Amino acid sequence: MLSRLEKILTDKEEIFCANTYKPLPVVLKKGKGVYVWDVHSKKYFDFLSSYSAVNQGHGNKKILRSFIRQAKKLALTSRAFYNSELGDALEYITSTFGYDKMLPMNSGAEAVETAIKICRKWGYEVKKIKENKAKIVVCDGNFHGRTISLISFSSSEKSKKNFGPLTPGFQIIEYNNVSALEKILKKDKNIAGFLVEPIQGENGVVVPDDGYLSDCKKLCEKYNVLFIADEIQTGICRTGKLLASWHENIKPDLVILGKALSGGFYPVSGVLTSKKIMSIMKVGMHGSTFGGSPLAGAVSKAAIKYAVDYNLSIKSEVLGKIFRDALWDISKTRKIIKNVRGKGLLNAIVLDCDVNSKIPWEICLKLQENGLLAKPTQGNKIRFAPPLIITKRQLKKAISIIDESLRDF
Ligand SMILES: *Cc1c(COP(=O)(O)O)cnc(C)c1O
Repeated sequence: MLSRLEKILTDKEEIFCANTYKPLPVVLKKGKGVYVWDVHSKKYFDFLSSYSAVNQGHGNKKILRSFIRQAKKLALTSRAFYNSELGDALEYITSTFGYDKMLPMNSGAEAVETAIKICRKWGYEVKKIKENKAKIVVCDGNFHGRTISLISFSSSEKSKKNFGPLTPGFQIIEYNNVSALEKILKKDKNIAGFLVEPIQGENGVVVPDDGYLSDCKKLCEKYNVLFIADEIQTGICRTGKLLASWHENIKPDLVILGKALSGGFYPVSGVLTSKKIMSIMKVGMHGSTFGGSPLAGAVSKAAIKYAVDYNLSIKSEVLGKIFRDALWDISKTRKIIKNVRGKGLLNAIVLDCDVNSKIPWEICLKLQENGLLAKPTQGNKIRFAPPLIITKRQLKKAISIIDESLRDF
C-alpha cells in the first residue's frame, strides 16, 4: 500500500508524465552505493542498477567529484570548438578498450544509430555495395533502443505497431544460431554488418552458447562484413570483463557503449572503432550538440577509470559465480525457480509460470517489501543486476532476501 505522500507523488507522475512505463510502487529519493532509499527512508538493495547504468554504484564519489568540478567550470561548448576534456578522455577510453577512435553521443539508442550509419557508409564506400542496397543483419529478440530505425527490426510487436512506415534494410535471423548467419551471408552480397548483443539483456538475459560470438566474428571476416557489438548493457565490467566480447577473445569492428559509460550521472554513449573505419566519417556527416561535451568527457573518463582502478571486472566475475550458485541452491527448495542464467553480475531467474502470469510482479512486490528492488523482464523472468561495487556480505544479505521472498510462491 502506498502512503499518502507516495500516492501524491505517483499520481503526479501518472498524470503529468507519458505513461510508457509501469514502475514498481516505490518512490525513490536517495541512493548510495548498492542502496536506494524511498521517501520514507526505507532502504533497498538496487538490483536493477538503472538497467546497468550505475555499475559503479549510486553517487560514486570519484565520478561525482569530476562531475561537479567540470559542471562548475564548463559544461557544454558544442563541437564547434575544441574543449579541454574531450581529447584526454577519449585517449584514455579508447586505449582502455583497445580501439583507435570513438564517436561520442548521448543515449544508447543514438550510439546504435551512429554505428548503423558508420556501417552503411563503410558498406558503400569500402565494400562497394550499390547505392541504397546495404543491409544489416540483426537477431531475433534484440533490444537496441527506441528510435524509428531501431524499432524497425525489433521482435516486439508493442514496440513497433503503428509507428510505421519502418526503416528498411535490416534482416532478422535467429539468435545463437551460427548457421543462420552463415546462410544469409553466403546468399547476400549486400550485407554490410552484423549487429548483436553478446548477451540479450532486455530479452531476459539470454546467454548464447560458448563460441557463438567468435564463430560469428570469423564468418564476418570471411564475408567482409562488420561485426558490431552492442555492449551498452553488457559492457563496462557487467559480465565479468570490461567487454562481454572479451569472454571469447574477439575484437568487434565496432563496439557500442552507453549506460555505465557515465556511471549514471549524465547520458554518455559512443561508438568505438579503428582509425581506418572511422576515417570514412568526415566533417558534416554526423554530429550531436551535447555529444563530446566537456562534462561528458570528464564524467566518462572518471567512470571508466573507476571501473578499471577498482577491478570491477574481477568483482563481477567472482561475485557473479557466488550469486548464481546461491540461486541454484535456492531453486532446490523454491520450486518456482525453473532456471538460473547469466554471466558476471548480469543474471536472471526464469520462473515456472507462463509469460502472462502475475506471479513475477507479485514476487517483485515481495522483494520490495523485504528490501530489494528488481523487475520482471519478458514476462516470467526476473533480472538481478546489482551495482558491481556490492560486497560479498551485502550479496549474502541480498541472497537471503531473495530466498525469503520466494517462500510463498
Ligand atoms: C539500454 C540499451 C539500449 C538503449 O539505450 P538508451 O540509453 O535507453 O537509448 C540499447 N542497447 C542495449 C543492449 C541496451 O541495453
